[in-house]
Amino acid sequence: MFVSEKAPAKINLTLDALFKRPDGYHELEMVMTTVDLFDRIDLYETEKAITLESSSGLVPQDERNLAYRAAALLKEKTGCKKGVHIYIDKRIPVAAGLAGGSSDAAATLRGCNRLWKLGLCDAELAAIGAEIGSDVPFCVYSHTALAQGRGEILTALPAPPSCWVVLAKPSHGVSTADVFGKLRVDAIEEHPETRSMIEAVKQQDYEGIIRYLGNVLEPVTMDMHEDVRKLKQKMLQFGADGVLMSGSGPTVFALVKQESRATRLVNSLRGFCQQVFAVRMLGVRRESVLDEIRTK
Ligand code: ATP
Repeated sequence: MFVSEKAPAKINLTLDALFKRPDGYHELEMVMTTVDLFDRIDLYETEKAITLESSSGLVPQDERNLAYRAAALLKEKTGCKKGVHIYIDKRIPVAAGLAGGSSDAAATLRGCNRLWKLGLCDAELAAIGAEIGSDVPFCVYSHTALAQGRGEILTALPAPPSCWVVLAKPSHGVSTADVFGKLRVDAIEEHPETRSMIEAVKQQDYEGIIRYLGNVLEPVTMDMHEDVRKLKQKMLQFGADGVLMSGSGPTVFALVKQESRATRLVNSLRGFCQQVFAVRMLGVRRESVLDEIRTK
């Protein structure tokens, strides 16, 4: 048996940290959505072992991979005796602030649920995913949402209005733990207006979305990596409507309405930044690459 799942990249329209909790995590408020940039996760049923392979040498190819951990945890939680060979066709840049690993884990949960005919609902998969990482529940649904708590408490929102998203990733990665480690909540100068962003998304108000883009981690990562600040300036200078760093970075994304402007932006950034993509805003979960489980 074989199943294939798409694992979309996420972007933050807002990211706010309210306070540091006694458990060491920050209490967060984030408006998150997805873009049309995917990893593809192919899952082949095996007798009982879990094995993993990826097209990218930048991710671990063993039990440290978040997709492997997702399959192992799902087996443990359900007592399923079957195994899986996981193949990850990696397209989302790694350690980029785009939740690539979390999305691979979530897609593995969705796919193994189908492959092994476990019959779990998304909420059950999201609860299992929360044990792997804070962004995994969001990625299980891959639907625009307000995320609170560590990111695992989700309230669904409509997809943002259709537009183009230009993603630019500097050559280095960023460790999410490092960035949160350097964040001082009492020193945050400007908190995003989360409620106004939610309203703008609900009203399909593109100008409002541009106005209320905000991420408290942006200055922290920019202080560690000056090139991220320069990248944002360049994108604004080259005609983006709005620009924000996603998650803990270092990927910076620009929103534009017309495809021609997205293309111009991509061309202007070539030579300045290694990985640049122009993709559509998504905001809702696309059907799997293959809807039906089919026999190999
Ligand atoms: P987030 O936005 O959730 O913080 P990110 O986009 O910044 O995530 P990832 O691409 O998910 O970062 O990678 C973070 C780390 O996780 C990397 O150091 C990578 O080695 C490890 N990792 C484990 N499994 C995967 C995977 N399937 N894809 C990407 N990275 C993975």
